Amino acid sequence: MQVNFQKSPDGLVPAIIQDARTQKVLMLGYMNQEALDKTLAGKKVTFYSRSKQRLWTKGEESGNFLLLEDVKVDCDNDTLLIRVQPVGPVCHTGSGTCWNEDNVNENFLYQLERTIADRRANPSEKSYTASLFAKGINKIAQKVGEEAVELVIEAKDDNEALFLNEGADLLFHYLILLNAKGYQLNDIVKVLEGRQKKG
Ligand code: AMP
Ligand code: ZN
Ligand code: ZN
Ligand code: ZN
Repeated sequence: MQVNFQKSPDGLVPAIIQDARTQKVLMLGYMNQEALDKTLAGKKVTFYSRSKQRLWTKGEESGNFLLLEDVKVDCDNDTLLIRVQPVGPVCHTGSGTCWNEDNVNENFLYQLERTIADRRANPSEKSYTASLFAKGINKIAQKVGEEAVELVIEAKDDNEALFLNEGADLLFHYLILLNAKGYQLNDIVKVLEGRQKKG
């Protein structure tokens, strides 16, 4: 990877930090060659802090590290895009991103995925999702099968609303099955991306 650190007199390039799972932009830092080398070697994102005037591994005090997924350099080699898996809240204010959470529009499916995980962790009697988790994986998988069959039936018809609703039912129950099996939507996305690279 070719990065032009010399473009700026201080030898620093901006590094945009993005959540590899949700695609949220989390924070911005600066890197010199040494910071980038350390990041690539140790898999924990390390910046050059302009205020501390030294290498700064994000999370070194708080434990809220940014685990490296991949690094891309932009069209003219002077800005980095770094995809990470954040270990905890990224901002020193305790917020998930350095921009007001409310202003970041997280992909709805990932939001839904988190809600499902929350229903499993904190089950309430009213929650349909929690009741499904209580019935176990076989029952959940069976629900996915049922919704798939209902979708097949509606695909033959021309009732648009029913078709869309069965699709939503299928996707919703599939997200629950993924969670029950210990996976995330992104695991499936990775498999699909891998196929595209090969094909
Ligand atoms: P940490 O690297 O998370 O252990 O935090 C160490 C110090 O770095 C904090 O006390 C803040 O001064 C600063 N800091 C942490 N996170 C951020 C951030 N996202 N943006 C700017 N400064 C930060
Ligand atoms: Zn550029
Ligand atoms: Zn912040
Ligand atoms: Zn249905």
